[in-house]
Amino acid sequence: MAYDYDDDPIHCATCGSEIEPGARFCANCGAAAQTSPSFTPGYAPGMGYEGGPDYGEPVHVPNHLVWAIAATLCCCVPTGIVAIVYAAQVNGKLAAGDYNGALSASNSAKTWCWVSLGLGVVAAVVWGIVGLTGAI
Ligand SMILES: [Zn+2]
Repeated sequence: MAYDYDDDPIHCATCGSEIEPGARFCANCGAAAQTSPSFTPGYAPGMGYEGGPDYGEPVHVPNHLVWAIAATLCCCVPTGIVAIVYAAQVNGKLAAGDYNGALSASNSAKTWCWVSLGLGVVAAVVWGIVGLTGAI
């Protein structure tokens, strides 16, 4: 049974295989036949995707500088200063493109903030107890 396909062959938009004229589904993958005149494998043009590596999503690393200063003033000065030192390194490392270094300094600053807060709370409790009991 010879059938002459004199029309342009229709190609499946999903798998690209040829579809018989008049068929509503692709015999290969079962996708609905779309009568697009030309099948272009790969991506469709005009999607407008510009994935430049230079400008990705903005990197945001919290430097915890405010917390470090607050911890220094309110809680414990020596450890708070350490937190400030680390917090001050965050922006500098970010400016230098050292993302991992900035993240590490940020985490260190946060840790020392908590250490300062903990020591401050302990000191406040101790001094409070001492003051209330009048042990001095
Ligand atoms: Zn198909």
